[in-house]
Amino acid sequence: MIVTRFAPSPTGELHLGHAFSALTAFAAAQAAAGRFLLRIEDIDQGRCRPAFTPSILTDLAWLGLVWEQPVRRQSEHFDEYRSALDRLAAEGLLYPCFCSRKDIAAAGQAPHGPDGPLYPGTCRTLSESERTERRQSGQPFALRLDCAAAIRRVGPLLWHDQDAGAVVARPDLFGDVVLARKECPTSYHLAVTLDDARQGVTLVTRGVDLFEATHIHRLLQALFDLPVPDYRHHPLLTGPDGRRLAKRDRAQTLRSLREQGCSAAEVRALVGL
Ligand code: GLU
Repeated sequence: MIVTRFAPSPTGELHLGHAFSALTAFAAAQAAAGRFLLRIEDIDQGRCRPAFTPSILTDLAWLGLVWEQPVRRQSEHFDEYRSALDRLAAEGLLYPCFCSRKDIAAAGQAPHGPDGPLYPGTCRTLSESERTERRQSGQPFALRLDCAAAIRRVGPLLWHDQDAGAVVARPDLFGDVVLARKECPTSYHLAVTLDDARQGVTLVTRGVDLFEATHIHRLLQALFDLPVPDYRHHPLLTGPDGRRLAKRDRAQTLRSLREQGCSAAEVRALVGL
């Protein structure tokens, strides 16, 4: 049974790009007489606004999407992400990193990975006593995955993309990725991987901008012994200027289109679904 999902972050109103993504996932479930789920990815409480969640639900229902209940809200599951982090820590695969962005920039010209500059590893080798001392002094820290150790533990990995075929996982491209921060006690990578497994998602459909993120998700699946879904990374819609649609393009929000008298069928036609 195919299980797909749409997983928006409530950081703004949905736009045509989201409509395309949500309809793509919904159509894949419908075509296979499968199930369609919705998840609200609201872990980043600095950027997410609770008020956007009801408008997201309104927009999706207006588009004609039907999803199963309950809707999973990530902010209600911080304890699950915490215990997953504890598991990695117990295996010695996680370490506290006290570096600020400035410290990382000052460490020299680090090569860039999909999430930004690769972490030079400064805090990986701190002694236990230094870690304790810094924690006790109240210094803020992030939790980073020791990527090389994690790769050694699970060995080579593959994942399958419906367009790209078999893909060799390259989590090393990310280096020691951040899995939690003081102000955000889990990361997108950790929460999305655990939730797709917990919700029984068998086909992850999302934009091609997240294609590379799948490398790190595949590593996390192996570390937590989770089932591996199939993937489809769809192209991103672009505006008339050729730029990818983003939340800043306010005229393109589904709400504004609806208020201008556009019908759901017209929006579906606009995105070609
Ligand atoms: N929450 C992410 C976003 O709004 C999507 C995550 C995913 O589909 O894996 O960009």
